[in-house]
Amino acid sequence: MMRPGIAGHQKHTWKFIVQETEDLKGHIIIDRELCKECHLCIHACKKGLIIPSQEYNSRGYRPVCFKEERGECTGCALCAITCPDIAIEVYRE
Ligand code: SF4
Ligand code: SF4
Repeated sequence: MMRPGIAGHQKHTWKFIVQETEDLKGHIIIDRELCKECHLCIHACKKGLIIPSQEYNSRGYRPVCFKEERGECTGCALCAITCPDIAIEVYRE
């Protein structure tokens, strides 16, 4: 029987991605109009750099925000991989 949650090999892959990018710098751009406020990316970002917002987009959702003040984003792309609406673009420096 299939169980919900992350498969074992996915956990290892994600851990590998985070470790491999730990020393990199990056930033993301969130498309406010594509975001549907599911908040999956908030849970995906290990650095806590994505937060809810109170402002609505034209479709009635409150798109999340990228809150980066200390250069902590590594460009690991876990947020973008997690987003079902392909609303996040990741850039590495
Ligand atoms: S790229 Fe990685 S560190 Fe940067 S916001 Fe997305 S999940 Fe967080
Ligand atoms: S995962 Fe995508 S759709 Fe969901 S809140 Fe984040 S940016 Fe918005």
